[in-house]
Amino acid sequence: MIKAKARAVDGPNQSFRLAEIKRRDLDLHDVLIEIKYAGICHSDIHTAHGDWGEVNYPLVPGHEIAGIVTDIGPEVTKYKIGDRVGVGCMVDSCGKCENCLKGEEQYCLKGNVLTYAGVDKYGEPTQGGYSTHIVVTEGFVVKIPDNIELDEAAPLLCAGITTYSPLRHWGAAPGKKVAVVGLGGLGHMAVKLAHAMGAEVTVLSQTLKKKEDGLKLGANHYYATSDPETFKKLAGSFDLIVNTVSAKIDISAYLSLLALDGTLVNVGAPAEPLPVNIFALSGQRRSFAASQIGGIRETQEMLDFCAEHHIVPEIEIISANQIDEAWERVLASDVRYRFVIDVSTI
Ligand code: NAP
Ligand code: ZN
Ligand code: ZN
Repeated sequence: MIKAKARAVDGPNQSFRLAEIKRRDLDLHDVLIEIKYAGICHSDIHTAHGDWGEVNYPLVPGHEIAGIVTDIGPEVTKYKIGDRVGVGCMVDSCGKCENCLKGEEQYCLKGNVLTYAGVDKYGEPTQGGYSTHIVVTEGFVVKIPDNIELDEAAPLLCAGITTYSPLRHWGAAPGKKVAVVGLGGLGHMAVKLAHAMGAEVTVLSQTLKKKEDGLKLGANHYYATSDPETFKKLAGSFDLIVNTVSAKIDISAYLSLLALDGTLVNVGAPAEPLPVNIFALSGQRRSFAASQIGGIRETQEMLDFCAEHHIVPEIEIISANQIDEAWERVLASDVRYRFVIDVSTI
C-alpha cells in the first residue's frame, strides 16, 4: 500500500481536515502520480453535500488532477517516470462495451469508475485529487502538452472536457451562434473554446458584473439574465446554448432563445429536475439535451487543441487550508474562474 496525505470531509457541510489515505500497490498497467495541482469543481461540492444522493465519508474530492508520474507498473507502455500527466472524472471503465469501444467511456454501459465516491474493480472506494498521490490505470491517464503549465492544466481535466465535448458534438464553428449560460469554471472555458472554434459567442450571466472579463475571454456579446429585456431581445437567436448553471433555472425561458433546430445542452447538474414546457421546444423544432464530461481520447484531443490555440483557464491558486473558503466562494458565484489547490500545501 502507498500512503498519501489528503484533505477529506466527514459529512455534508463539514470542514476539511487532514487525512492519510491508502493508494493500491501498482498493478501491471498502473501509474503512480505525484499530484501537483487539483482544481475545485462545483461537482465536488454537490457530491460532498449529498445533492446527487448519499455518498460514503470520509470523502476526498477532486477530479481535475495534474501531476508527474513517479512510478509505473511492469506492463505500462504509455507513460514513463517523469511524464506530466492528468486525470479527470473517471479512472476506469469496462473497456468492452459498445460505448467503451467507441471511446465514450463516460457512457460505459457497465458504469465507469468515478475518480472519487466510486468503487474500483478491487471493491475499494475511490478517493480523489485533493491528495498527494493517486494510482490510475494508464488508459485513464492523459498527457499534458509541454506548453501548458500543470496548474493551468488541472481545470481542463473536467471544466475543459465537459464544455469541449458538447461544443464539438453540436458543431460550434464559424457561422454558428453559441450562448453560454453561467460564467463560472465551466462557463469561462466554454467561452474560450467556442471562440477558438470560430463561433459567435454570447454570455448569459445573472448580472453584468463580469462583462469586461467575458469579453476578454472571447465573448462577442454579454447579457444579464436578471433583465427581462434580455429574453425579449434574444428570442430565437442561438444555434446552440450550453447551460453550465449549477442551480435550477427556468429552462423553458432559455429554450425560447434558440433558433429553428437549435439545441440547448445542459452540463450544469443541479440537484432538482428541470421541468420543460413542450411548447418552448415544439414551436421551433428545438432540442433539449445534456452531456457528461468526455471520453479519454477526446480529453487528449481537447488538451492538444488547448495547447495549439494557447487556451488555459483563469485560475486562482489556493493552499489546502483555504479549501473551505474557496467552496463558499464557488457557492456564492464568486470564482474567477477556477480555484486550484497547490497540493504541496496539504
Ligand atoms: P461554478 O464555477 O460555480 O459556475 C456556475 C455558474 O452558474 C456561476 O458562476 C454563476 O454564473 C451561475 N449560477 C450559479 N447559481 C446560479 C443561479 N441560482 N441562477 C443562475 N445562475 C447561477 O460551477 P462549475 O464548476 O462551472 O460547474 C457548473 C455545473 O456543472 C455544476 O452543477 C457541476 O456539477 C456541473 N458539472 C457537470 C459536468 C458534466 O459532466 N455534465 C462536469 C462538471 C461540472 P454567473 O455568475 O455568470 O451567473
Ligand atoms: Zn468536475
Ligand atoms: Zn464499458
